[in-house]
Amino acid sequence: MTIRKIIRMGHPTLRQIAKPYSLEEIGSQEFQTLIDDMRETLEASRGIGLAAPQIDVSTQIVIIEVPESGTRYGESEALPFTVYINPHITVLEETSTGYWEGCLSIPGMMGFVERPQHIVVDYLSDKGVKQSLELKGFLATVFQHELDHLQGHLYLDHIKDLSLFTYESEYQEFHLKEG
Ligand code: ZN
Repeated sequence: MTIRKIIRMGHPTLRQIAKPYSLEEIGSQEFQTLIDDMRETLEASRGIGLAAPQIDVSTQIVIIEVPESGTRYGESEALPFTVYINPHITVLEETSTGYWEGCLSIPGMMGFVERPQHIVVDYLSDKGVKQSLELKGFLATVFQHELDHLQGHLYLDHIKDLSLFTYESEYQEFHLKEG
């Protein structure tokens, strides 16, 4: 496994629509190596999610692992490490709630983003099996953030009030209580 370089905002790959996988491609050696590298890269960066475009591979893979505790996202439910191929979101309720989001491709920054809080994600597993997952609250936000990367969107595209786009240390100092 190899830790890959995470590309940052301004790199054109982050603004491209990523290519979906065919069933034949899922399970190939190249595919498995990419997932292994993504997992090692995510662990090394101590993030909770990574999309393939963030390591300059414009294909539709997202990995997410939300640990039990000990993160700055303390309020959330845990979610074991899972691979999501060709994921698609359907919003079940438009009611939105805001959370502070960060992104490995926008290091050192945080932004307050409102998103729908009840969604279902349809995707293929890393074995090519159709799956469906219903999500609420913070986890719904996590999935929308990560899947946005496959459509060339970044969280800051959704910030309504740019006074709530801050450096991480200023977030800690001035905004953490409101979040
Ligand atoms: Zn991100």
